[in-house]
Amino acid sequence: MGRNPVDDVSPKERERQLKYLDSVIKGETPEKRVMVGYENKTDKKSGDQIDKLSEIMKEARMPWFCPECKKTMKKRLDDKMWRIYGHCFDCQIEAENKMRIEGTYEEWAKGKVKNNTKAYLSDLEEDIKRFRNQKSPEFFNQNRPDGYSVDKEKWNISKKDKEVINKLADDALKDIKKMKENL
Ligand SMILES: [Zn+2]
Repeated sequence: MGRNPVDDVSPKERERQLKYLDSVIKGETPEKRVMVGYENKTDKKSGDQIDKLSEIMKEARMPWFCPECKKTMKKRLDDKMWRIYGHCFDCQIEAENKMRIEGTYEEWAKGKVKNNTKAYLSDLEEDIKRFRNQKSPEFFNQNRPDGYSVDKEKWNISKKDKEVINKLADDALKDIKKMKENL
């Protein structure tokens, strides 16, 4: 009788894996874990490089001065606000205060939440699709002290497990589709 690769994993580790998978399917974001869905090593490498490159480009693209108030943008929050709203953090605070006074804030915030939810669901959809299409899922644990390097972890999944996973993934995708339609 062939040995199931899953048997090589300790029960505790196995439980952790299943718990993790469950939280992914439910749409929770497990802490400090990044799911990567590349099929093979070559793809993964170039994918990693592209990710890193686009991260660097994003940083480089933030202007030194806020286009609205002309103050220097140096705070972490400035960077975030600039990417989302095209101006600095202080300008965003001001814009939201103005909307509150004009009574348009509620409506704007509602729209924003809706858009965020939609974007989140789309991301989740992609994650699940990638996860489903993997032959042997690989996970990257971001647990090195430098907070940057990752440890690679490979799962061995039996054919039977894969069927269960596919079913869970398909159900989750159906749910997400419904949620998106009802937004
Ligand atoms: Zn500004």
